[in-house]
Amino acid sequence: MIGNERAVAFLRRSLAYGRNRQATLITGSPALGKMRLGLAFARALNCEMEPLGQRPCFNCQACDAISRGSHPDLIVAGADAPLKINEIRNVLRLLALKPYSGRYRIAILDDFHLAAPLAQDALLKTLEEPAPHAIMILLATSAERVLPTIRSRAQQIPLRPIPQQLIKNQLVVSGCDEERAELIAGLSGGRMGWALAAAGDEALLAFRQETLDTLSKVIAGTRLPRIRMSDELNRRAGRDKAQLRNVLEIWQSYWRDVLLMCYDSPVKPCNVDRRAEIRALAGRISAETARAALEATAGALGALDTNANPRLLLDALFLTYPGLEA
Ligand SMILES: [Zn+2]
Repeated sequence: MIGNERAVAFLRRSLAYGRNRQATLITGSPALGKMRLGLAFARALNCEMEPLGQRPCFNCQACDAISRGSHPDLIVAGADAPLKINEIRNVLRLLALKPYSGRYRIAILDDFHLAAPLAQDALLKTLEEPAPHAIMILLATSAERVLPTIRSRAQQIPLRPIPQQLIKNQLVVSGCDEERAELIAGLSGGRMGWALAAAGDEALLAFRQETLDTLSKVIAGTRLPRIRMSDELNRRAGRDKAQLRNVLEIWQSYWRDVLLMCYDSPVKPCNVDRRAEIRALAGRISAETARAALEATAGALGALDTNANPRLLLDALFLTYPGLEA
């Protein structure tokens, strides 16, 4: 785990002193490495290595089984769709069983913030009367989106974005050339998981170029073409929320760059390869306008998690973006 040494050190300490709380809440934005840290913690809990300070060893049978997704005492749920109350009850039932081969039964609940409050609340009874061998690891984008009754009973581990330079170094070490590493590190928003995936996947960067080209066309377009582009984008990505989320995140990083440029900030833009275009746009619009576009994009991202209609979201967003005033 590069860059989140504090979080890892904290988990190591709680392990060393046998102070494992029954629930751990790992928070941070997508692709920051929450699942990787959750799995590392699960390995450390059931690792067979002596002494304890060397866990997880990534080598023993238990560590290996967790890497392969076949450890009988580890349950992972919630990665594909928001957890429903009956799924959570099922996980709790499995968690209550005696461990088959490890010290602990462990459940990792992914995207726990997407579970409805009633479903989240199903954990409460188990947290109040925990079985000593049961450990819950909850992953969420932010602690605020987890019920206060649940988060107050969990040890909280916030993951922070990793500094760009560290990400760049890691990419270079793993064989990426300097210039490409710089671009990807800038785009990563501090997400090592994303950066490593992008370095090994041409399609990811091509998708970003295409997404930024769409944004340029929207800004250059009048009302009617914007509605058409919203329609087209909705047809391509409207049903795939993960893809639409990617699109909005790319636009968000772009508007952040424009806003910084409006303020003549010395901070290097994330989208270094579009610096000239960003500078030109920042010269034409006010900081307030850039800020409004940034906030509207962030708002649309938030609304995606609720059951908002993607078509209406995009329509509203495209009509908020600057360029229509003239
Ligand atoms: Zn091990």
